[in-house]
Amino acid sequence: MTEMVRFRCQNCGYRFDTEVLDEAERREARRLDRPTSAVHCPQCHRTDIRRGWE
Ligand SMILES: [Zn+2]
Repeated sequence: MTEMVRFRCQNCGYRFDTEVLDEAERREARRLDRPTSAVHCPQCHRTDIRRGWE
């Protein structure tokens, strides 16, 4: 299962929501030594983003 999480770009201020792995899947990915998905801004493609729109 994935969950929708809201992010706000620190670079351009763009707000978006995207699906991320839930806690169990992140654990599983780490256990299998797979990289967890890196979320990036769809607008400027930077990865310096933070959770939440507030
Ligand atoms: Zn951005």
